[in-house]
Amino acid sequence: AALAQPGVRGLCAYDPGLDLVALRRGWPAGELVELGSNENSLGPSPAALAAFAAAAGDLHRYPDPLGGTLRGALAAHHGVARAGIVLGNGSHELLMQLAQVFAGPGQEVVASRFGFAVYALAAQAAGATLRQAEALPVAAAMPRGHDLDALAAAIGPETRLVYLANPNNPTGTWFGTGALADFLARVPPRVLVVVDEAYLEYVTDPALRSAVELLPEFPNLVVTRTFSKAYGLAGLRVGYLLAAPGLAAVMERVRESFNVNGPGLAACAAALADQAHVARVRASNAGEREALADALRARALAVTPSQGNFLLVDFGRDAAPLAGALVAAGVVPRPMAGYGLPTCLRLSVGRRDENRRLLQALDAALGGSR
Ligand code: PMP
Repeated sequence: AALAQPGVRGLCAYDPGLDLVALRRGWPAGELVELGSNENSLGPSPAALAAFAAAAGDLHRYPDPLGGTLRGALAAHHGVARAGIVLGNGSHELLMQLAQVFAGPGQEVVASRFGFAVYALAAQAAGATLRQAEALPVAAAMPRGHDLDALAAAIGPETRLVYLANPNNPTGTWFGTGALADFLARVPPRVLVVVDEAYLEYVTDPALRSAVELLPEFPNLVVTRTFSKAYGLAGLRVGYLLAAPGLAAVMERVRESFNVNGPGLAACAAALADQAHVARVRASNAGEREALADALRARALAVTPSQGNFLLVDFGRDAAPLAGALVAAGVVPRPMAGYGLPTCLRLSVGRRDENRRLLQALDAALGGSR
């Protein structure tokens, strides 16, 4: 470790927490309710599965190094130039590379407390220093959400990059497109603002639209998206960013050749073309999200408002035993101690049958305490 550059020396390897592989082995197929990773229980479009299978015939060939077909389809979908789109092996890869390209030792990266964990990792791995802005208070309308004033105030002369997710994981909190535009107007043009929209397809609040519409106005804006969530393709590892073509060209310099595999390119293009599937996923999630939040609040639990496909629930006491009891009952939550929220669990919104299993397991675990 002493040979590694200073930023990497202080890093810990990603710890998935629960041993999901062992858990899956321990339960009959389809019986384990996995609500720990904000995946899409409805799965991908059947068209995406068909395209994936068809692409298997070309596994001995390298894929299109430029991902031209998928980038073209994404450009048409978002109404931007193809040159402004960069593909990643998941949006995680792009988030890491953004810090690698735009920040380094002696420079700062700004993110919010309770922001997505990868931002701190990306900053550290690049050798930069993370400056964490305080989040909104628990009593706010958006408990623990991004405080855009605090984020703006945290930007200093050495700041090169700001990461924010909208909606944010793990809180589910969000802010409107107008508030984002006001924030961007306060950020010096030398500072890149990365708006992570991993959960944007799930949004139902009309005040929040994709930040893609702000790209022409703010050349320092980068928007990241993913096929892992609403498109139901987390296993394929495909994400993308949208930015001014000049900025995208810089990112292309560090992109590994063939970073997105052939079946992934094919399946994502088919998934993108099936927006009816995405609309069904959004509608199902919106209904189930509300029903689950209501059911949890009826149990006197503190549920953070969410525009994602998950809920942050505060149990007001150490949630580790509760997480253990849920797992024993075959329901997988995401413990939040790593985020400094040991009294909270993050619960993905599943299908109705899965949410019912979750509530049954919760009731059994909470037992006499209610
Ligand atoms: N951003 C946010 C806010 C996320 O929650 C996640 C996944 N948990 C990602 C990015 C990364 O997703 P992927 O690499 O699968 O695109």
